[in-house]
Amino acid sequence: MNSARDPRIAIVGAGLGGLTCARVLERHGSSVTVFEREASADARPQGGTLDLHADTGQAALRAAGLLDRFHALSRPEGEEWRVLDFATAALLAHQGPSADGGRPEIDRGRLRGLLLDSLPEGAVRWDRAVTGVAPLADGTCRLLFGDGTAEDFDLVVGADGAWSRVRPALSPAVPGYTGVTFVETGFDHCDTRHPDLARLVGNGSMLAKGAGKSLVAQRNGNGHIRAYIALRAPEDWQVASGIDLGDQQAVRTHLLRMFDGWDESLRYILRNSDSGFVNRSLFVLPAPHTWEHVPGVTLLGDAAHLMPPVGLGANLAMLDGADLAHALVAEPSVDDAVRAYESIMLPRSIEAATGSARGLDRLVPATAC
Ligand SMILES: Cc1cc2nc3c(=O)[nH]c(=O)nc-3n(C[C@H](O)[C@H](O)[C@H](O)COP(=O)(O)OP(=O)(O)OC[C@H]3O[C@@H](n4cnc5c(N)ncnc54)[C@H](O)[C@@H]3O)c2cc1C
Repeated sequence: MNSARDPRIAIVGAGLGGLTCARVLERHGSSVTVFEREASADARPQGGTLDLHADTGQAALRAAGLLDRFHALSRPEGEEWRVLDFATAALLAHQGPSADGGRPEIDRGRLRGLLLDSLPEGAVRWDRAVTGVAPLADGTCRLLFGDGTAEDFDLVVGADGAWSRVRPALSPAVPGYTGVTFVETGFDHCDTRHPDLARLVGNGSMLAKGAGKSLVAQRNGNGHIRAYIALRAPEDWQVASGIDLGDQQAVRTHLLRMFDGWDESLRYILRNSDSGFVNRSLFVLPAPHTWEHVPGVTLLGDAAHLMPPVGLGANLAMLDGADLAHALVAEPSVDDAVRAYESIMLPRSIEAATGSARGLDRLVPATAC
């Protein structure tokens, strides 16, 4: 089949990329089904704050007809960045919000909610974990579900993130560990409960870095500060150190030892956080990651180009989603649309992956800078 006239389109994954694609398609009168493995929209907290760039994330929201609502929800003052000296906490560099509000911050949960609310009832089918896809000889694609059922589509879009179950239909690549782990923790009601830290972080983000380790703290909405203790360390650093991540005191003691010599105002992050510690080992797909075109299936976002989290991944996932949707609306067939989309998305992501790898090296330098 594979015709662009009312094609059967499945998007796997209700993350920012998949939802943007669905919204832009719906806006142009194409119906689409999003299959999401989680049981509901609020099955888990969605994570921290994101800055949306004018030429990527914001461009995608414009295509989705949601840019004005985004601006109403976002925090332009959150664009502020401070770099502090690790030993003295002296301000080394400061960037205020740009005059034109170029990269406003928004909590990921709010952004996802904005996209979800824009879709018709039933567009997202929750609790539908995909286990794999099988491209068929006629150019369509079979979607296989965890409950043993299957459905056929003219196009399956893998928007299912780092550990995509759709990707193996296109590429044998698997993500590899970068050598960097973010240990996440958080502070509630920061202005009243943690005023000194709130002042240190300001309205946006704060970074201090030493050899092989950094501290990043970001103001989220609702007075929350989310902090990442970034370590160049084996993926199972806590196992090697004999530490149970659930034992907060043991983690604090270990981290305080690791950050010996750092200013006490920064060590406050290790000593006094309200929440426990969550390991976020950073994985990336090999770069360049590309594939030979296969009819009936494609990828977007992290499924296509998982890269270090230095501020691009969500922006690119959303732009991918908007670009793919536009191609599906504009091109004469699904196959033409996917080819047109991949010819833009793949080179763009290769360039971004190279830049992001350098960004991670700057964020967590291997040696003292
Ligand atoms: C600590 C951290 C900080 C970050 N900060 C930023 C930032 O500031 N700016 C930025 O641009 N990016 C940032 N990123 C990167 C960003 O989070 C990702 O690039 C972005 O979320 C990718 O979006 P996506 O839609 O491709 O995938 P995801 O957001 O991962 O969404 C995938 C969806 O697919 C679902 N799914 C997965 N498997 C299946 C399956 N088998 N069946 C059905 N559904 C499935 C998942 O449940 C999920 O809902 C950060 C990442 C991390 C880890």
